[in-house]
Amino acid sequence: RKVNGDQVRRALEHEINPFTEQPHSAQYKEILDARKKLPVYAQMDDFYKMFTNNQIIVVVGETGSGKTTQIPQFIVYSDLPHTKGKIIACTQLRRVAAVSVAKRVADEMDVELGRHVGYSIRFENMTEPGTTLLQYMTDGMLLSEVMNDPNLERYSAIILDEAHERSLATDILMVLLKASAKKRADLKIIVMSATLDALKFQKYFSVRSNEAVPLFKVHGRTFPIEIFYTQEPEPDYVEAAIRTVLMIHRAEAPGDVLLFLTEEEEIEDVCLKIKLEADDLIDQDPDAVGPLTCIPLYSSLPPQQQQRIFDPAPPPRTKGGPLGRKIVVSTNVAETSLTVDGIVYVVDPGFSKQKVYNPRIRVESQLISPISKASAQQRAGRAGRTGPGKCFRLYTEKDFKNELEEQTHPEILKSNLSTAVLTLVKIGVKDLVRFDWMDAPAPETLMRALELLNYLAALDDEGNLTPLGCIMAEFPLDPQLAKMLIVSPEFKCSNEVLTIAAMLSVPNVWLRPNNQRREADAAKALLTIPDGDHLTMLNVYNEYVNNQHDRNWALTHYLSARALAQADNVRKQLERTMERFEMELVSLSDPVKIYQNVRQALVCGFFMQVAHKEGEKGNYLTVKDNQVVALHPSCGMDTQPEWVIFNEFVLTTRPYIRTVTEVRPEWLLEYAPTYFDLSSFLDGETKRALQRVVNKKAGKSNRDTTKDTRARTRKQ
Ligand code: ADP
Ligand code: MG
Repeated sequence: RKVNGDQVRRALEHEINPFTEQPHSAQYKEILDARKKLPVYAQMDDFYKMFTNNQIIVVVGETGSGKTTQIPQFIVYSDLPHTKGKIIACTQLRRVAAVSVAKRVADEMDVELGRHVGYSIRFENMTEPGTTLLQYMTDGMLLSEVMNDPNLERYSAIILDEAHERSLATDILMVLLKASAKKRADLKIIVMSATLDALKFQKYFSVRSNEAVPLFKVHGRTFPIEIFYTQEPEPDYVEAAIRTVLMIHRAEAPGDVLLFLTEEEEIEDVCLKIKLEADDLIDQDPDAVGPLTCIPLYSSLPPQQQQRIFDPAPPPRTKGGPLGRKIVVSTNVAETSLTVDGIVYVVDPGFSKQKVYNPRIRVESQLISPISKASAQQRAGRAGRTGPGKCFRLYTEKDFKNELEEQTHPEILKSNLSTAVLTLVKIGVKDLVRFDWMDAPAPETLMRALELLNYLAALDDEGNLTPLGCIMAEFPLDPQLAKMLIVSPEFKCSNEVLTIAAMLSVPNVWLRPNNQRREADAAKALLTIPDGDHLTMLNVYNEYVNNQHDRNWALTHYLSARALAQADNVRKQLERTMERFEMELVSLSDPVKIYQNVRQALVCGFFMQVAHKEGEKGNYLTVKDNQVVALHPSCGMDTQPEWVIFNEFVLTTRPYIRTVTEVRPEWLLEYAPTYFDLSSFLDGETKRALQRVVNKKAGKSNRDTTKDTRARTRKQ
């Protein structure tokens, strides 16, 4: 049954909700009136025409025109997918967007979130099989579903949202969906983008090379936006941002402000500072400025707090007094993923946190980098949604013209691809180089990914998936973490390693408020295990579980109760995956031995992330890649051991390694003999140190004929 706009409009106005069969609520009617004002709503009939006649369409429209919230609902009404037992997926790039939009759409449809409308993000599934017909999900989640359901049979339509951002998972999904569409005539694909250069997508998805799939253009309206630049470059963008927000609050007409910053810590800090300064202004002259609320927005924020961005600005303190103002301080998520109504002023320092990958030294890190012109344009656009707006760029016009790149590079060109390659091999992709990429990744990056998976024994020397690799792909973890977890039962410490894997999968659990740094550090010291940060994580989790009767335990130890609860949840889910593969959960009772075994399991996963101490200044050199690094200040070890394994390479004022644990060189040689084959090492102190270990061992085994068989059974 194909539906047209008239029928859908009638259904929307009907007294009874077709999904719950209950009368519509008052809130439903109120929201419906707001929806009718969205540009996309007026084009419903055109949408149905195009949707009915085509398998694949590209949709473009300004941010805020209603693509993400409305188009999936149009489709829900169009072919009643639930009657065929299939559902609709709409991908989002960020967890926070998936959750927030699902919540909004559940409200719009007057259903309970998690029932007819739900979301699915890593480690969190809010859907009800059999009931859910529209599912918002991260693109990464859909990609992991493809592994076990290559043609995505359970979906009738898949909407790839925010394709313009070219995230790694979306890029891969585009290739796979294009192939699935050929095999499944009943599968509809919608590619949505906020930028207007959609031709690349239209051409990519067309069957014949000189054609293009149809474009559905949402006629957004935006109001004029006045753009201001600074005269001189700003030496400190954070300070400049605070100053600009306060200037707006003092001098500009009513209207809310959106400030773009880069990361959680910076955002929380700036919110605090703006609040203090605004209170000062009010103390000086209560009639001069109105009340101000500062609302942070970033991915790890709890859902209830994310909703606060939609709260109205605070009312005047006294009747007739100066109006209040809402300041939203956000990461890039507010650039196109979430729309906050009522924004009149945008403050754009010109930076965001971006992935960078250097395949030569195998380092992926997050760097605060200048945004592109396209991004700057999007950001400015957020000011003109409901009326004319202003955008304050905290850089010079000359820098905008000459220094910023035109477009942000697709993520595939700046990511470590090991997880992606493992997924693709698991799906059965044979030739990664001639894969139908929209933009092909650098061959060196693909090489590095294959090499890593081969060292981890996920792929054999011919590039085929091994049984181990097959299991690794099923864990929602990086390959190294998955490997470490899978070998842990052999070391009789899978309980502990499971905890560490969970703790490494959630945001930082340590709180360090600016005005209580000393107290926070002292609390941390009490829980620290000097042999390594991984062991400290294990200890923190165990203490958290032991103290669950004490509601204030986390807070008094300067720990995030939310992150710990999340770790607990992640742990349970990973445990379920372990059960599926009949992996045992075991512990040793000897506490000394257990710490040693945990570190050995760590080596089995992270042997490519080892650093060796050089000289007395506390410098380390990463093994093979020879990067000079230092232990991150957050590191809790009380000595500087000769050999360490690290979880992360971070570049701030200098290169650091973070989350570090001491390991023994014998373990490296024993558990990763191929990687630590000394003939493949450049000459240097690292090689000499390893050579000494080899020599010592050879001398020892000459004296001692009992052979260590573990090396053979547990070879990487
Ligand atoms: P697009 O995807 O085209 O950027 P959206 O569908 O995300 O547009 O948003 C359309 C409109 O829906 C927004 O302008 C906003 O008014 C409204 N909206 C979205 N989420 C919420 C929410 N959680 N609360 C209130 N309004 C919302
Ligand atoms: Mg959107």
